[in-house]
Amino acid sequence: MESKKIKGILSFLLIFSSFSHAQPKPFMDYVLSWDGDSSNLEVELTYAASQKDSTVFIFGDPDFGGQHNIFNVITNIRVAQPETLRMDKANRRITIYHNGAKKHSISYGIDGSLPVDRPTRTTQTELFRPVITKGMLTLVNVQFALDVTDESNPLVSFRWRNYPESFTYFNSIRPAEKNPRDKLSAQYDDLSDLIYFVIGDNIEVKEYNVMGIPYYCVTTIEDTYGNDLQGNFQPFFKSYFPSIHRFWKDTDFPFYFLAVTVLQNNQKEIGAGGFGIKNGFVMKLGKKFDPRGIYVTAHETSHSWIGTKMMLGADSFDNQWFGEGFNDYITIVNLANSKIYGEEDFLHYLNEETLKPHYESKIKGAHNDSIAAKYWTDYANYGKLPYRRGCIYAFYLDNQIRQASNGKFTLRNMLLDLYGLKMGKKRDELLTVDDFINAGASYVDKKELEGQIVRYMIEGEPIDFNNIKLFDGFEVEINDGVPRVNLTEGADLTKIYQW
Ligand SMILES: [Zn+2]
Repeated sequence: MESKKIKGILSFLLIFSSFSHAQPKPFMDYVLSWDGDSSNLEVELTYAASQKDSTVFIFGDPDFGGQHNIFNVITNIRVAQPETLRMDKANRRITIYHNGAKKHSISYGIDGSLPVDRPTRTTQTELFRPVITKGMLTLVNVQFALDVTDESNPLVSFRWRNYPESFTYFNSIRPAEKNPRDKLSAQYDDLSDLIYFVIGDNIEVKEYNVMGIPYYCVTTIEDTYGNDLQGNFQPFFKSYFPSIHRFWKDTDFPFYFLAVTVLQNNQKEIGAGGFGIKNGFVMKLGKKFDPRGIYVTAHETSHSWIGTKMMLGADSFDNQWFGEGFNDYITIVNLANSKIYGEEDFLHYLNEETLKPHYESKIKGAHNDSIAAKYWTDYANYGKLPYRRGCIYAFYLDNQIRQASNGKFTLRNMLLDLYGLKMGKKRDELLTVDDFINAGASYVDKKELEGQIVRYMIEGEPIDFNNIKLFDGFEVEINDGVPRVNLTEGADLTKIYQW
């Protein structure tokens, strides 16, 4: 009885709503096919046209990993009569003239080939391009889906029609969904957070429960470097992720995934690269997983807070000393808290990877505003500068807060306050450097903090470790102008970084 009644109401609502929306809501429905063997993805898109005469799509984003010839991967674009097509390759524009058609569709191929005679020499080639090769497919939506220019914010759906049934499938929208035939939907405006697909015969997906949050670990199973990636990542699920959720007192995530696959077309050992997307991190690896891989994984997943949930300023370049440098410090203190880094690893990162290269750098005094222009052209110097500068200051500020409070408070307390401030703001309201200073003013002298931000972070003056005091746990020696931090006798890293 009860259920019949509900059904009656439901069908009434459905009928009612179909009358009340004479205009179909904008949609874009993608149907994808791949045979598991070839380098071609077949894409069929049906859509509602919000403009009467024509619809304009853009394919590819050269800013996504600097792929200036990305339009080359789209092939064999077709529309059905009476619709006609015009292409503007230079601007990556595809215009479809509807000519009175009531239904609209476009089909095309995506070429994800990896030519054997042109092996992958940088991780960028495979990281930011579609990879569709025998037994393996990795795809980001910007690598196969179209941008619509009419600002209609359609509901976009993806489903797979043909695919190798025996292959493992992973999608980053609803990772619990394991059947590629089931439709995945997302609002168009949310697609800027990216969607990732992995399908392959050498793919394993392991599921973890970290403090009630489903975590997914997607990796290649066997590779030419002899990696055991699922084994490599286990410590992250057992201790690092719990550490960092406890650090931020935050378990408000629907899920999180790590997708780490090795390069498919690589012939010698090269590095690793990655990018963060909503609720996850994608990495491509061209070598044996090593300590650098541990650091990169920890740094990138730590960006879920500093960098994603919390940023200073509108542009991520404005205050990279915070977005990258403070994130770096939070990364290594969490690696210490989770015991993935012991004393030696922690001090190595602080001294050899941060203090030494920074104090030896010719451009260590560069103004914060001069970084953006040279960031990519001189990454070794300018790209690294905000990471090191910010990490060193975060360490120093942590020491100041510990000293001022006799060990009662740490940088963590200040960052938690700042995070609380951000959560209290409206969704699109930004954190500012003033917010940072106000949060810090509860722990250290406000005027002094303001002065330090201007001198050390903005104007670029290096902190003079001769004239500062660290809290009891750390001591510093200076050789040839390069500071070197050590633990004091009896100090225990796991007690210093405890929460
Ligand atoms: Zn980063």
